[in-house]
Amino acid sequence: MKSIQLESPGNFKTIEEPTPERQAGEALVRVQSIGVCGTDIHAYHGRQPFFEYPRILGHELGVEILEIDDNDLGLQAGDHCSVEPYFNDKTSPASRAGKSNCCESLNVIGVHSDGGMRPLITVPINKLHKANQLSYEQLALIETICIGAHGIERSQLKDGETILVIGTGPIGLGAIQFAMTQNCRLIVADISEERLAFCRDVLNIEYTLKADAPDFEDDLRALCDGNLPQVVLDATGNRFSMQRTFSLAAHGGRIVFVGLLMGEISFDDPNFHKRELTLMASRNATPDTFQKVIAAVESGAIDTKPWITHRINLQDVPTQFESTIAQPNLIKAIIETDPK
Ligand SMILES: [Zn+2]
Repeated sequence: MKSIQLESPGNFKTIEEPTPERQAGEALVRVQSIGVCGTDIHAYHGRQPFFEYPRILGHELGVEILEIDDNDLGLQAGDHCSVEPYFNDKTSPASRAGKSNCCESLNVIGVHSDGGMRPLITVPINKLHKANQLSYEQLALIETICIGAHGIERSQLKDGETILVIGTGPIGLGAIQFAMTQNCRLIVADISEERLAFCRDVLNIEYTLKADAPDFEDDLRALCDGNLPQVVLDATGNRFSMQRTFSLAAHGGRIVFVGLLMGEISFDDPNFHKRELTLMASRNATPDTFQKVIAAVESGAIDTKPWITHRINLQDVPTQFESTIAQPNLIKAIIETDPK
C-alpha cells in the first residue's frame, strides 16, 4: 500500500508498505478521513519539539473496521469509528487511576509512532469509538473537539458560571462548542478580529472580546457584571496570554491550560494565593469524553459544519500540504483517502 511519510521537515514522500498485520486484541481498519492538526503543521515546519523523522503523521482519524475478532464492545466489520489515538500502558499508575490520557508511557500515534496517513492501520479494539451515523469527516473531527471538551471537563464548569475561553484555533473551538452545550455564560477572546467574527456570525456567540485591547480586563468585567469569570481556559500556548490568566480569574476561580508552551511561565504568588486559584493542565482526552462528544455531535448539540474549510486527497499531500496549511482562512483541513 502507498503511505505518506514525512521524511524530514518540509518533505513528504510516498512510500510502499506491506499491509499491516493484525495482532490479537486489534482491529484492521481502513483510514477514510484524516484531520490536519497544529501538531502536524509544527512537525512539517520542523518546529515540533522532540519530534523524530521520518514519521507517518495522522492522529485525527475517521475509519472503517475491516477485520476484528469477537469483542465485548459490540464492534464489527463495517462499523464507522473515531480513533482515540492515545495508546496507553494499562498497568501504569495514571492508567489505573483512570487517566489513560496522561499515562507515563503514552504513545500518541501520528506523533510518537506512525499514524494514519496511509490506507490501512491496526488499532487496539478499545481505542475505537463507534458512530455509524456520523460521516468519516465528522469522525476525524472528534479527537480535536475532545481535546477542548476535556479542558471544559477539567474546569468542572457549573451551571450559571461564567467561562472565558482565550484562543479560537481548533482546540479553543472544541472547548467553545462543548461549553455551548452547558448552561453557562461564555466569553470568547482572541487577537484575530476575523476569528471573533466567525465566533459571532457562525457559532452565534454573544460575547467576544479582542484579547489585545488596551483595556481588556475592564472589557471583561463589563461582561461579568463588574466581576471576573470563575473559569479561564487558555488555548493559545502563548506565554503572555497564559501568564495574564492569573489576573483574569475570579477569586476562588479555576484556570485551565489546554494550550502548551514549550518553556516556563511565571506568576505572582501573592496574587495566586489571595485569589485561592486552582491551576490545571489539560492533556488529550479520556475515553468517556470521546463518547460524550460523539453523542453531542450525533444529537446536533455540537455542529461540525463550520469546521472543515479545506480538503485534499491523501496522494496529493506531498504536493498540496504546504499550500493548504498556508491558506489564511484555514480552520480545519481534512485529508481524504482514495476510496479504492
Ligand atoms: Zn490533533
